[in-house]
Amino acid sequence: MSTKSVTQSPIVVAIDKADMKSALMLADTLDPRLCRVKVGKELFTRCGPEIIKQLHSRGFEVFLDLKFHDIPNTTAQAVLAAADMGVWMVNVHATAGEQAMTLSKQRLLDGGYDTLLIAVTVLTSMGETALHQTGVNGTLDEQVTRLASLTKNSGLDGVVCSAQEAAVLKAMLGSDFKLVTPGIRMADDSSDDQQRICTPRQAVEQGSDYLVIGRSITTADNPSEKMQLILDSLK
Ligand code: C5P
Repeated sequence: MSTKSVTQSPIVVAIDKADMKSALMLADTLDPRLCRVKVGKELFTRCGPEIIKQLHSRGFEVFLDLKFHDIPNTTAQAVLAAADMGVWMVNVHATAGEQAMTLSKQRLLDGGYDTLLIAVTVLTSMGETALHQTGVNGTLDEQVTRLASLTKNSGLDGVVCSAQEAAVLKAMLGSDFKLVTPGIRMADDSSDDQQRICTPRQAVEQGSDYLVIGRSITTADNPSEKMQLILDSLK
């Protein structure tokens, strides 16, 4: 149940591949002593728990990014199922509510799991207009801080947020509350479809604890060299 960390690296590489073979080919270019990996909805839906098993057998700690959002019991049992696979981190949507988050964390604690449980506040793909269309009034920043506070008060370990939100959230929620930030690019990388990007160094300086990095590493000619470049930029 206890996953003793093999790495102190803040980097979590997003394995955004559609099948087991390409996912493992990518994983085999990475070193589990230098990064963790993130498995999202597409890869997990296609490959199931076997992909987690394969990544664990290669020594990687896994962030299972399935963003559960359901009634409290269903959310909590899904979180427990993830923890049973031995993943390092799993997440829920904060909009599932305090009861769903509290119950999920409680079941992890009762079961003696050390899987980190974090929440998504507002998806970074969502602008203020889209947020208002869902019936939420007020600004995006207000909604992010409201949901991040709710997450902390529900006993979770942290939130996914953009690096631009990190400094405010760190000051508000304290240094133990983990901030996990995607949208990371080196200065000469393409920004792809990400709107608000930060370099790894900027993100850490803003208070990010873990940097979720996909294409900057996964589309590099030499992913392991790129990883080293990023790690060097953090020294
Ligand atoms: O390739 P890139 O570095 O943009 O990948 C970022 C990863 O983080 C993708 O897996 C994406 O789905 C995920 N993510 C994100 N923004 C969020 C939550 C997750 O980019 N708010």
